[in-house]
Amino acid sequence: GERELLSYRSLPAETPDGHRLVLRCNVELPSEVPHALAQGAEGVGLFRSEFLYLGRQFPPDEEEQFDAYREIATAMAPHEVTIRTLDVGGDKFVPEINLSDEVNPALGLRGVRFSLADRQLLKIQLRAILRVSALGPVRVMFPMISGVSEIRACKSILHQAMAELSREGIDFDGRLPVGIMIETPSAAMIADKLAREVDFFSVGTNDLIQYCLAVDRSNEHVAYLYEPLHPAILRALQMICSAARQAGIKVAMCGEMAAEPLYLPILIGLGFGELSMNAPCIPRVKRVVRQIRYSEGKELLEKLLQMSTVAEVTHCLEEEMMTRI
Ligand code: PEP
Ligand code: MG
Repeated sequence: GERELLSYRSLPAETPDGHRLVLRCNVELPSEVPHALAQGAEGVGLFRSEFLYLGRQFPPDEEEQFDAYREIATAMAPHEVTIRTLDVGGDKFVPEINLSDEVNPALGLRGVRFSLADRQLLKIQLRAILRVSALGPVRVMFPMISGVSEIRACKSILHQAMAELSREGIDFDGRLPVGIMIETPSAAMIADKLAREVDFFSVGTNDLIQYCLAVDRSNEHVAYLYEPLHPAILRALQMICSAARQAGIKVAMCGEMAAEPLYLPILIGLGFGELSMNAPCIPRVKRVVRQIRYSEGKELLEKLLQMSTVAEVTHCLEEEMMTRI
């Protein structure tokens, strides 16, 4: 029951053979943090900063952003908070700032593409994030990266923001970890190149699945094709995780796929060090993590990667997990 699940709050998310995972929360409003802590979240793996920009005429200024990020970082301290830069466009349409004439918004000016088209707005956001990094452990993460030049452009604006703050005598953590979402097929395919540019990856399966399988994540007519266990998705995840491992950088998952207990042997076998999800999912995921050996996840993954259909993968996983979820 609920009470039994909450008893997992104080136990580590560790496999029986000693492989430790970090379970973090996805947050849309600073006020969600206390509840997430109560569920056992060890940090914020994804703060969707676009929610500060929704439903208003002008974007929040540096001070307002600073206040919001500070509230999250302070509430979560000493745990780390991952702030994702503005991700508007696609299914997160903000009338005041998005183009309204895009025929295909999911493939349009969204995520980091929008930020790089309005670099002043991005720099203001990065200044606010940097200022909060002086107060507690903060990471910055860029969404919808599809090529190396985009992350280099983002880092160059980050360095400009750092130089400005230094000149103004304002404190920040000059070594704050810089990461990217892996949520486009191109990013998965060049994960080895991208891994040399950043400190961490976080896989956004909501978009990665949509783009890999060419299935609109919000279109009910093709929802039956939206399959996290599609062999193409398993291969993509494998490419991403092995690139991260070879480069020695951390790899997280913050899409909905991270919250489904049935998928955990795969995620453990792939070597994910962090899973970030909506806070209420944390206790259940933790309970299942504590029942799957890392060695078992790796073996099962090898088997699943040989399979050709979603049905085969699902059947095999369900057999393995029957008694545990
Ligand atoms: C994702 O794409 O998986 C993700 C976590 O980001 P969002 O759902 O905000 O697009
Ligand atoms: Mg996304």
